[in-house]
Amino acid sequence: MKKHLLFLGPPGAGKGTQASFISESNDYLHLSTGELLRQEVEKKTTLGIQIKEIINSGKLVDDELVLEIVKQNLALSKEGWILDGYPRNISQADSLAKVLDELNQPLEKVFYLNLNEEILVKRLINRGRADDNEKIIRTRLDIYKETTQPLIAYYKNLNILEYIDGDRDLKTISDDIKQKMA
Ligand code: AMP
Repeated sequence: MKKHLLFLGPPGAGKGTQASFISESNDYLHLSTGELLRQEVEKKTTLGIQIKEIINSGKLVDDELVLEIVKQNLALSKEGWILDGYPRNISQADSLAKVLDELNQPLEKVFYLNLNEEILVKRLINRGRADDNEKIIRTRLDIYKETTQPLIAYYKNLNILEYIDGDRDLKTISDDIKQKMA
């Protein structure tokens, strides 16, 4: 049976890389809210222009808007999926729980990828995305610590949290995740 999984962790921990790697090899839907928002930006719609400004400031996009995007995409899939970059705060986690309840798609596991902050910053600077300059990276890390990090305890309390050491090579990490998602 395919599962419903979530990848949690600071920017630069390798969530997107692992989520796309595993979703391809296991035929899962990969849902990255950052990626979906960047696609909206590409369309250069009024909404896209607003989103671009927020992303490039390092702040979070409005909860309601991101929820709408997540809902639309989850409805496309009855099979397994990997959510990456959502939820980012407790309110989003509560909304997600409601949506998944309605869709009858329980969240089975949350993989928490982490590594040392200085390595994160170096990795992000090297990645070179539009929102990857040092000042914006610091903002994103601060927001992560303040609003996203409490989700670790949230999912730990639900007994579905798995810790993954992100300071290893790609294949070792994905093997570890695959073993733990079985
Ligand atoms: P990411 O690709 O996950 O690093 O996301 C890039 C940017 O998209 C973030 O810095 C936020 O501005 C925005 N974003 C992505 N996911 C969310 C979310 N769940 N809630 C609010 N904003 C988000």
